[in-house]
Amino acid sequence: MQLTCIDCDRLWELHQPRIRCACGGLLQIEQQWKRLDADRLKRLFHARLAERMTPYASGVWRYKELIHPELPDEAIVTRYEGNTGLYDAAATARFAGVRRVLLKAQSENPSGSFKDNGMTVAVSHGHALGMNRFACSSTGNTSSSLAMYAAWCGKTSYVFVPEEGVADGKVLQTLAYGGKLVRFPGTYDDGLRFLEAHADEFGLYVCNSVNPLRIEGQKSIVFEIAQQLEWSMPDWIVVPGGALSNAAALGKGLQELQAIGLIETVPRVAIVQAEGASPFHRMVEAGERTLTPEPRLSTRASALNIGSPPSWKKALRTLEHTNGVTVTVTDEQIFAAKQVIDRSGIGCEPASAATVAGLKRLAAERIIDKDETAVCILTGHLLKDAEALAGYAGRTPEALELRMRERMLDRASVDRRL
Ligand SMILES: *Cc1c(COP(=O)(O)O)cnc(C)c1O
Repeated sequence: MQLTCIDCDRLWELHQPRIRCACGGLLQIEQQWKRLDADRLKRLFHARLAERMTPYASGVWRYKELIHPELPDEAIVTRYEGNTGLYDAAATARFAGVRRVLLKAQSENPSGSFKDNGMTVAVSHGHALGMNRFACSSTGNTSSSLAMYAAWCGKTSYVFVPEEGVADGKVLQTLAYGGKLVRFPGTYDDGLRFLEAHADEFGLYVCNSVNPLRIEGQKSIVFEIAQQLEWSMPDWIVVPGGALSNAAALGKGLQELQAIGLIETVPRVAIVQAEGASPFHRMVEAGERTLTPEPRLSTRASALNIGSPPSWKKALRTLEHTNGVTVTVTDEQIFAAKQVIDRSGIGCEPASAATVAGLKRLAAERIIDKDETAVCILTGHLLKDAEALAGYAGRTPEALELRMRERMLDRASVDRRL
């Protein structure tokens, strides 16, 4: 493995914590595989599905050879993350207007979001380097995930969370794991800027997705999808876009799967942003090659309130490599999609529902054909944002529910008389 700058190709030492290249560019892991045999890997990954109490029972570390081959097994900090369901969702497909939709429920991760896939790798790496203070800026899910893994390996986490626009449940979850909380007026972007400037001063190991180990771990999401579909890919994979780490990991993972020969065709990637926080979509639509940050953010899908997504260049490569597209959706469209996903029995938080809303819009615009198959990545759990449920979950009861209640009250009065 090598650490290289995506802008100037300069090499950096992997065993030294470092956020960016001297030129300001983002860093990326280059894997240096020798003699990887696709059939042997398929057999190995399949055999590991029977693992129980070893690190290879994790849906991330199952693919260790493709993620962090050099890390000693003793350094792995795992909660058996990944291993999430891929569900054929007929009602969601009908709503979106395409033949087949599969929901990849990353919400089933131990802390309730896909952040665990990357965090287990970042924390394990930091742990192996001997770091003691882990830190992140967060809209709530990164902080929950980091606080969980830091607690699990006996380290301290310092989490920077904006005072406004973060779901209460995520903040409480972070505190419950023992995360040290720093709240501030501002946005995720301000928190990340602070960490980039002061990590060395405070001896912090930064676990945001600017940390390239996070991206290596998040590749496992597409590895799992491929394995669950027996190495034949769907036509489309749809992800929400906030900091754009998922979009970056998806592209890198797909490129590697194809290079190794584990898959033949690469699906197209659709990145969905909320209208109130869509700097990446606006850049792509305008045909520009520089991102203009969005200073004022306003989406009820709080995990997407990011105006200056650090991984935008990596996400742009994903679009180029997969012939991908971007699209935006309104909060109203997000909540309509969320209701369908919730009612189907899977459920998710608002940011995740942006995928299905975006799919519906792309199908309506004939960018996605109605006969194509799409995998939508559900990034976070239904209970992550309880406030978002209050809006529509308290519907008036229907006739049959009312009759049951009446009968139950009758029964109770009979029982009391006896
Ligand atoms: C972090 C997060 C996102 C945004 O993902 P990026 O990889 O930062 O683009 C979307 N949904 C949920 C639930 C998240 O926690």
